[in-house]
Amino acid sequence: MTVLALDIGASKFAAGRVHAGRRVREVRQVDVPPDGVWEVCRALLLEVAGDEPVTAVGIGSAGPVDVPHGKTMPLNMPEWRSGFPIVAKVQELFPAAAIRFASDGACLALAEHHVGALRGLPDGMAMTVSSGIGGGLIVDGKVVLGRTGNAGHVGHIVVPGWDTPCSCGGVGCVEAVASGMSSVRWARAQGWAGTTGAELAKAAHIGDAVALAALERAGTALGQAIASAAALLDINLVVIGGGFAKSGDPLWTPLRAAVAKHARLGFLSKLRVVQSRIANGATLVGAGVLAAGHATADTID
Ligand SMILES: [Zn+2]
Repeated sequence: MTVLALDIGASKFAAGRVHAGRRVREVRQVDVPPDGVWEVCRALLLEVAGDEPVTAVGIGSAGPVDVPHGKTMPLNMPEWRSGFPIVAKVQELFPAAAIRFASDGACLALAEHHVGALRGLPDGMAMTVSSGIGGGLIVDGKVVLGRTGNAGHVGHIVVPGWDTPCSCGGVGCVEAVASGMSSVRWARAQGWAGTTGAELAKAAHIGDAVALAALERAGTALGQAIASAAALLDINLVVIGGGFAKSGDPLWTPLRAAVAKHARLGFLSKLRVVQSRIANGATLVGAGVLAAGHATADTID
């Protein structure tokens, strides 16, 4: 009996076998090619599946998704952007398997709720801050999927004071201001010469003025978005993973200052924002939780 987890990421596919109900092992990863996307994904799944019958597959995908119709349409994949029937395709590969599908943000929330900072808690938000910004919600002990499966798209909360164009077509989304990629773009426009979020963090730590300003800007926008989301959802714990979230005090000090400035209602007085302890692949961990049947739209154990 084999249970698989699949993470359809912004630039990579990752798949693994789910052990003991929720641990994902034997993980393999491949880059998403510019075309022939399904062939690469299919080969990865077959390689990880091996010879035993597959009984369940959990799929977490970069958004947007159309969960009721089993389709994914990641912004960064031209070939799939108009809607790829991922559930039907995976079902063709493994006809006897139960296929469970959710957004990467919902999977992130499931991972944190089962093995991370939100474990045992009825409410909270999980975020990833890396090249983009995503998230998922736990409310009343359940993962919130939303009408089309896209609930928790916290990266597209609009933050005040910025009118930066966003990849979604809007302007002023927190992702357009505070993601690693957006911060690098802003810093380069101010004359900084590096190319990655990790380099930007390093430059800030040695006192580069532009890098410090880029992280202050990002942290402030993140804190504003978090305060808004927390008020909307009545949550008091937010956990943030992703590479750019590891930028340390130059990001986290302004983030916490913005939360303190904006989250002023009494019910938000205990709002905490913490860094994720799930080292890598939280979406895949969540897809494993999904695959193992611990979570559906209605129930979560
Ligand atoms: Zn947006």
